[in-house]
Amino acid sequence: MQRKTDKYREFVDHPRYGRRPNTSGLNPSPMDAGVRLHWNTTTHIEIVTQYESILGKRWPFGDFSAYTSGTKRIPNTAVLADPSKQTRATIPVTHYFDLERRCRDCKRQFIFFAEEQKHWYEELGFGLESDCVRCTECRKKQQGVGRLRERYESLFHIEEKSEQQILELADCCLQLVEQSVFSQKRLEFARMLLNKIDADSDLRQRREYIDLVRRSRPVAKASTNNPSLDSDRSSDS
Ligand SMILES: [Zn+2]
Repeated sequence: MQRKTDKYREFVDHPRYGRRPNTSGLNPSPMDAGVRLHWNTTTHIEIVTQYESILGKRWPFGDFSAYTSGTKRIPNTAVLADPSKQTRATIPVTHYFDLERRCRDCKRQFIFFAEEQKHWYEELGFGLESDCVRCTECRKKQQGVGRLRERYESLFHIEEKSEQQILELADCCLQLVEQSVFSQKRLEFARMLLNKIDADSDLRQRREYIDLVRRSRPVAKASTNNPSLDSDRSSDS
């Protein structure tokens, strides 16, 4: 049998909070009077019991266990919440717990920390309906892609692009293909952009340009007879 402390070794490391739970010793039950936990912190049975005991009628909705599967509240990690700082919600939350989660993208396990929830819901102003479904690494990657797309869009819509802007647009396009956001078909657009750079331009001699041309080649496929490619110069590859 593995030692208990080894359990979190494979969890995704959070740059601020680490990968292991923070024991606070505080362990309120959602069944205790006055305790309200976030829906992502509570099991189906607990919510149904709570609903029925507070309102005195039967739970009218179906089973939502599927939405909370893979989430586990870690005992003795609770942190007191300040409901007055949360955005207005039907049911404010009184405590946050460290939660075991599985990342939607990379499928690795990580902890959604109580301290991080406090930060989200009380300082950043995130609504209590928001939830953390990705590990920090995948969140970062997603933010990077978001910024790249924005930059791509804004360069794309500039009517008279400078050569430097054309290169940057080609670079954004290639990065988005490399990250599988765009399909391989967009390589052709990147090559078209690179061909727009004047044949005599110094830019063509730069390492940056040469690197972009290399990255814009179709993968594992000999170059086709597309006349739009290298139309004004012989192949120099
Ligand atoms: Zn992930």
